[in-house]
Amino acid sequence: MFQAQDAAPFTIEGASLGGIYTSLHIPELKVLLDVGYSLRSSVGAKHLFLSHGHTDHSGALPALLGMRALHGQAKLNIYLPEEIADTVKEVLLVWEKMQRYPMDCNLIPVGPGAEISLGGNRYVKCFRTFHPVPSLGYLFFSRVQKLKPNFHGLPGREIKALKDAGKDLFETKERHELAYATDTLISVLEKNPELATVQNLILECTFLDEKKSLEDSRRGCHIHLDELIQHQDYFKNEKLHLMHFSQLYSPNNVRDILQKKLPDSLKAIVTPFLPSKNYWP
Ligand SMILES: [Zn+2]
Ligand SMILES: [Zn+2]
Repeated sequence: MFQAQDAAPFTIEGASLGGIYTSLHIPELKVLLDVGYSLRSSVGAKHLFLSHGHTDHSGALPALLGMRALHGQAKLNIYLPEEIADTVKEVLLVWEKMQRYPMDCNLIPVGPGAEISLGGNRYVKCFRTFHPVPSLGYLFFSRVQKLKPNFHGLPGREIKALKDAGKDLFETKERHELAYATDTLISVLEKNPELATVQNLILECTFLDEKKSLEDSRRGCHIHLDELIQHQDYFKNEKLHLMHFSQLYSPNNVRDILQKKLPDSLKAIVTPFLPSKNYWP
């Protein structure tokens, strides 16, 4: 069931199938995006970002915490929509009672606009997604020091001299590397313009053709491929990782439909998150 996909400077590992399971591991960041199933290979993650409480995204949390305890891992940091934090705490208490062993973790409730430090120069910004239950997306970025534009093109010697003279040559810039937006209406794009330019955008695309009408897709607060195509000029990303496809389609159906319907501009950047074999595990 396990797939790995290049998302330079990172890798995305895991699996995603709409309504069934989604859990993506970014090993370079020790980050797990959702936990709709739990694999041993993601046990080393330090941070879990929950998009919302539906079981295909959160149902395997007790299994993950149990496995981590077995491996003697430090407490997992779990970032989650603030509206569901008390409920998740209750769920974990019930599981603790059942297995008679503590489910240690740091529950960190967050809301839209919150900023989280992952250590070093790495940060995460939380943003609102649009689903029938409280939900969030996450933007991963680093803060880097860049030479101010008026010093561009100067020889190294001169830059060093200016620096030695105490001149302030640098400014802090954000490098947006990866964003995760799942289980949401397409309006997430307009509401969060930074998604247009983030290097890697992981975006749900649950429905692909007339098997589900646009209206029905919107009613369930999901993105339909036709809407994505209507927004084709929006995407300036290096890679658009589409995931959370419905099981109405086999993996090969997904490949065929994307091949048939995507305009060239999107074909150039879209990498669907799919198993290599033609079945959903
Ligand atoms: Zn889902
Ligand atoms: Zn959902």
